[in-house]
Amino acid sequence: MPIALSEIETVTYRTVVIGSGCAGLNAADRLSDLGEKSLCVLTDGINRGTSRNAGSDKQTYYKLSLAGDKPDSVREMADSLISEGVNGDTALCEAAASAQCFFRLVQLGVGFPTNEYGEFVGYRTDHDTRGRATSAGPLTSKKMTEALEREVRRKNVPILDGWTAFRLLTHENRVAGVLAYSEKEGKLKLLLTAHVILATGGPALIYEASVFPESQQGMTGMAALAGARMSNLHQWQYGLASVAFRWNVSGSYQQVLPRYVSVDADGTEHEFLIDAFSDDPMEGVRLSFLKGYQWPFDVRKADASSKIDLLVQAENLKGRRVFLDFRRNPSPLKDDLANLDGEAGEYLRKTGAMQGTPFKRLMWMNEPAVKLYRAHGIDLEKEMLEIRVCAQHHNGGVAVDRNWLTSIPGLYAAGEAAGTFGAYRPGGSALNATQVGSMRAAAHIAFESKLQPTKDPEPLLTQAEEALRGLAFGGDPEETGALFRREMSRCGAHIRDLSSLRELDRQLRKTLESAEAPLEELPSDLEARVRLRDQLVTQRAVISAMLAAAEVYGSTGAGLVSDGKGGHLAHREPGKNLVLYTQMEGGEFVTEAEPARPVPEGEQWFETVWKKYRERTGEDGDDCDQR
Ligand SMILES: Cc1cc2nc3c(=O)[nH]c(=O)nc-3n(C[C@H](O)[C@H](O)[C@H](O)COP(=O)(O)OP(=O)(O)OC[C@H]3O[C@@H](n4cnc5c(N)ncnc54)[C@H](O)[C@@H]3O)c2cc1C
Repeated sequence: MPIALSEIETVTYRTVVIGSGCAGLNAADRLSDLGEKSLCVLTDGINRGTSRNAGSDKQTYYKLSLAGDKPDSVREMADSLISEGVNGDTALCEAAASAQCFFRLVQLGVGFPTNEYGEFVGYRTDHDTRGRATSAGPLTSKKMTEALEREVRRKNVPILDGWTAFRLLTHENRVAGVLAYSEKEGKLKLLLTAHVILATGGPALIYEASVFPESQQGMTGMAALAGARMSNLHQWQYGLASVAFRWNVSGSYQQVLPRYVSVDADGTEHEFLIDAFSDDPMEGVRLSFLKGYQWPFDVRKADASSKIDLLVQAENLKGRRVFLDFRRNPSPLKDDLANLDGEAGEYLRKTGAMQGTPFKRLMWMNEPAVKLYRAHGIDLEKEMLEIRVCAQHHNGGVAVDRNWLTSIPGLYAAGEAAGTFGAYRPGGSALNATQVGSMRAAAHIAFESKLQPTKDPEPLLTQAEEALRGLAFGGDPEETGALFRREMSRCGAHIRDLSSLRELDRQLRKTLESAEAPLEELPSDLEARVRLRDQLVTQRAVISAMLAAAEVYGSTGAGLVSDGKGGHLAHREPGKNLVLYTQMEGGEFVTEAEPARPVPEGEQWFETVWKKYRERTGEDGDDCDQR
């Protein structure tokens, strides 16, 4: 046995939650409430991850409408959550439990605003018809993690902080252990367990151009390597974001009409939107205004507002950096905005934002937006803001059923690690999904699972030894990772170049194979190596799904497939709603399309539901609100 394994510490918990974002902390809180005593949260950093560190203008939470005179229903909300590739049962669960989860957060002190009558007045977000969105401000998800962490600590749930899980171990066809490493302690830990809730967030580490916080990397490849089925890995959300300080440049940052500028290696500036819209230079200005509320890249808008994203990427591919300049108006726009017509003109006139420069308009409309950049050392009054088209959210992930159970017994996935979305999702539904998925996984473990941890660690120790293979990368793992991230952003983000993706996949496989050797001792850069392996494995799985998606749909959702001749493939409707499932078979990823599970139909009788509920939970349910 290698040196490291002779010293490995082994601990046992019936349930291990991996991750301390909105999903992980909620899973632990719910499990504790439901009486799970043998439980821990394992996190690579309690303050790391997307929930704790990301935000936006008005970070949105999406739930059933709870104000006003417009009717809403669970079924209608489920329908809004369904787009290409979404299963009806998980959509129904996310809709059904949205109000329950939202009120729980309110109860824990997250400050979602009410009017003087107690109504949670909402607003409309993208792909929403009912004004279901609400917000606790720019840092809604951070506030959620703080409230949930307080609860988890108050209930004395053990938090193993600073431990990176890097391998899921299985035994007798179910999950049985987690192998983790602490860089600080230079030690491995083996957690023997019967249930794992994977709440490791989105696999942010696969892209260079990213608005995920730097502390979020994810560990999706770990589930794929364990044999879990993945769904819709090709579906992502990309949009324009600043790079020095990672923040989406949506909302007022676009509506004040900044000048778009690209800069050559020799410092020459190009107002590239003017060249692109030479027939009507004001068209570029109008479309950039629409980016304010049509932020995510959308293939359906490739000839409308999403054309701006394509033009930004085209400048980057020429080796130019792209900036928003708030100091000067776009050249076609008159300083008194007299030639600004249509929606943009009407909006700026109505909001009184007719000042002579984008910066002055931004100060008028949204001064905190200016202060935010100042707080991060960027003065929009004096300097230009570098932007790119960045990955923001993974709509796909580990495939789950209506209890957020994966294809491996005992292994659940919740939050962004789980793939419950498809081509589109209403803004704010990701945060709702973190709460509903983790709650349902916790309830399933508490009420329906009989699994217990194995008492014999030997078979798992043998697997742990095996897990330390495949990390013998030559060269600097950070540099190798950066190289493949750059390539993925170039050919496998919102524009997908199939021949480059196939070549990238060959390179990824070669690099992974080159690392296939046993480790005799723990290298000092083990953390970087396990991250690199996860990145490369995840990239291979995502590429497999992207190639399959191009065959099934042509261009899809957030991914425009280039035809290799300067154009792109049109979207094809396959005639039914399909989910693309990716799974490792014989060392290779295989992606197959299956019809999506429909929204469950049929009349529900209270008495029947009540009987089944009592059977499932084993009690009358007078103090349990979450099954
Ligand atoms: C800029 C931006 C704006 C957004 N705005 C919105 C919005 O307005 N509305 C909305 O609904 N969604 C929004 N999202 C998406 C939403 O914030 C995320 O989907 C959500 O916060 C993810 O929560 P999570 O708990 O699943 O994962 P995270 O919050 O990312 O947590 C993952 C956790 O796992 C830990 N972890 C990861 N790997 C390991 C490992 N191997 N071992 C141990 N621990 C590990 C991390 O440290 C972290 O604690 C936005 C995202 C971004 C980037």
